[in-house]
Amino acid sequence: MTDFERLIRAVPDFPKPGITFRDITPLLADGPAFARCVDAMIEPWKNHGVQAVCGVESRGFIFAAAMAQKLGAGFIPLRKPGKLPPPVMHADYQLEYGTDRLEARVDTVRRGERVLLVDDVLATGGTLGAARNVLGQLGADLVGASVVIELLALQGRALWPQNVPLHTVLHY
Ligand code: 5GP
Repeated sequence: MTDFERLIRAVPDFPKPGITFRDITPLLADGPAFARCVDAMIEPWKNHGVQAVCGVESRGFIFAAAMAQKLGAGFIPLRKPGKLPPPVMHADYQLEYGTDRLEARVDTVRRGERVLLVDDVLATGGTLGAARNVLGQLGADLVGASVVIELLALQGRALWPQNVPLHTVLHY
């Protein structure tokens, strides 16, 4: 077990009965542990010429911005609908009930730019798939993705293309 894994809190029956929510806020509140988690997320990408790190709103922003600083790369926000001024590109994805959408400004990615995608949790994989879709529309060269927690039972990895590296630090 990594030293920061003990700082992930399992919250039973949140946000609804039967769901165990993995709460990352105790990890974020511990400076040295947060730094070691960011280092672990960066580790495979140090020599991959990453030019920008793309974070998914909102917890993905926290890790992506810290990683961008350490990699000397830019930061690209992928946001929920209506938050970014136009023009934007978007992709929709399935929730348990209904759909949601991620958007990026068209001028935040240069065609062929080497982009690393980041979020806090991989669950069913819908969010990361929509994020990959938007980056593809913008012409990004997707280097891979880094996520703190992979929820193995939900099999989100099955939706991710096998030829694009997906790095996850903690597994439940
Ligand atoms: P997916 O689209 O893979 O089903 O869900 C991933 C998204 O839902 C991520 O953006 C993540 O922030 C959020 N999420 C789902 N389950 C959890 C959880 O247990 N803990 C946290 N912190 N986020 C979760």
